[in-house]
Amino acid sequence: MIRPLLVRFPTLTSRLRPVELGQFPTPIHHAQQFGKSIGVPGVYIKRDDLSAAEYGGNKVRKLEFLLGEAVHDGRLEVLTFGFAGSNHALATAIYAKKLGMRSISVLLPQPNAHSVQRNLLMGLYSDAELHYYASRRTAAVGTLYQLVRHRLARGAWPRIVPAGGSSPIGIMGIINAVFELDEQLRNGEMPTPDRIYTAVGSMGTAVGLMIGIALAGLNCAVVPVRVIDSIMANPASMEAMCAKAIAYLRGADASVPAVSLGRDAFRLRDDFFGERYGLYTYAGAEAVRMLDETEGIRLDGTYTGKALAALVGDARNSALDGQTVLFWNTYNSRRFWESMPPIDYHRLPRTLHRYFEEPVQPLDT
Ligand SMILES: *Cc1c(COP(=O)(O)O)cnc(C)c1O
Repeated sequence: MIRPLLVRFPTLTSRLRPVELGQFPTPIHHAQQFGKSIGVPGVYIKRDDLSAAEYGGNKVRKLEFLLGEAVHDGRLEVLTFGFAGSNHALATAIYAKKLGMRSISVLLPQPNAHSVQRNLLMGLYSDAELHYYASRRTAAVGTLYQLVRHRLARGAWPRIVPAGGSSPIGIMGIINAVFELDEQLRNGEMPTPDRIYTAVGSMGTAVGLMIGIALAGLNCAVVPVRVIDSIMANPASMEAMCAKAIAYLRGADASVPAVSLGRDAFRLRDDFFGERYGLYTYAGAEAVRMLDETEGIRLDGTYTGKALAALVGDARNSALDGQTVLFWNTYNSRRFWESMPPIDYHRLPRTLHRYFEEPVQPLDT
């Protein structure tokens, strides 16, 4: 598969070493029924939920580049971070295993949900070594301990993959996605969107989309909808991440133009976050239900539901009248767990049993 980013900037091929994990391009779907229900006929969905045959979502795009590095460096193990139900930690485990590596996940607490339970069991099934810590401070200490322990046991350091895969290398996968979209626009699959809505967690997806749009010369705004605490996602850290990714690109290929995005680009949408990460909101749950009923596409309450709620809110305020809008569906819709034998949660570390013994949050139906 020739990646559109590497077609545009062939010199990058000498630095970037992606592996093939996904199925690209992902389809663009004209969501006519959903669009009708919110009075915006020009709503389209980028189906990154179908980004790979076994397990999709936005993390596949980052992991093609991140795990590509690890494999080419001859790593045996990768270590990454997330909340208990992390889609990123799970995707890393699934694809590390596929590439013959083992994955170590350092996990933090989040509100309970069926998807948390499912992801934990899928992680176990994918041979991930799961470690659960009550706070970021204990997780930092635990990470050091695990790194040393694995170094002593395997004779090599695990490759560290940052939370959400949002390093410059991971972001390359998202920039590549915009060049993929650009090809689809040229093929007439949809008109150039005025806006792209996406959820913001570790920020790499929104940052990659913004950089890609600038490089591809598209006239289109990203609407970044924050779904995580503002300590972790905020305009300043987003701007810094963006600068790092651009510097990485230009360091790898001097012909990449110096794009600058301007302060306004990093203004996050804060109004659909709710109370905390992973805690569903009424608006988010309503958006999830609407898309399921009109298009049969299932979103989640932690990320995509809140991002779509922002789109719905804007439509109701007439902010999208006459516009073409693209919703970037970052949530896996492949039913990986159906191919799994039943797994007893007691095989998980004891501290994680609470997710199976305590009720899920009320809005998770
Ligand atoms: C990780 C994730 C996001 C957020 O992407 P970031 O690059 O971390 O900001 C959005 N949606 C889903 C479903 C995710 O798992």
